[in-house]
Amino acid sequence: MSEGKLIVVTGPSGVGKGTLLQKLLDRYPDRILFSISATTRSPRAGEEHGREYFFWSRAEFEQKRDAGAFLEWAEYAGNLYGTPRQAIVEAIALGQIVLLEIELEGARQVAQSFPSAKRIFIAPPSMEVLESRLRQRSTDSDEQIIKRLHHAELEVAAANEFDVTIVNDNLEIAMQQLEKAMFHD
Ligand code: 5GP
Repeated sequence: MSEGKLIVVTGPSGVGKGTLLQKLLDRYPDRILFSISATTRSPRAGEEHGREYFFWSRAEFEQKRDAGAFLEWAEYAGNLYGTPRQAIVEAIALGQIVLLEIELEGARQVAQSFPSAKRIFIAPPSMEVLESRLRQRSTDSDEQIIKRLHHAELEVAAANEFDVTIVNDNLEIAMQQLEKAMFHD
């Protein structure tokens, strides 16, 4: 059986990563495994423990982190996020394509610890478009939006660290580019 691979997708909050990745999963349900991260942030309406995230307390998260249970972890907008290591290593050994949707610091850690991972950056057409998408989404408070926009600037500035950058202007075109980067490049 062939070895699987690890794909990292990074891009600012509000860039449309979730929509793109959900479409990808709908198209290739048997080929791609989405890693479920752990986070200390509170669930948003409609999110479920064990589906979007494992929602852990900070103490629980820190205890698991200190025990080495994460492939990578980072603090983002005041909360901790991390990728549980074991499920991923097992799935890759079984030949699956494992997809991590994580922020910049985590992507940098994966570049160090897992250099064969392919890293894809999803960029907004402009910061103005990103801000209006974040505000329209209205899942976050003003304070969260400001923190997320600040982080977005740092992330967009680091886009050149990635193997591929995809500008999410048109969903269909971005999907084609994502499929190409994942399966053919
Ligand atoms: P949100 O709170 O909007 O779900 O996620 C905020 C940010 O955390 C997003 O940029 C998302 O990609 C990132 N993120 C989600 N899970 C992880 C993870 O396991 N590790 C890291 N480093 N970032 C994550």
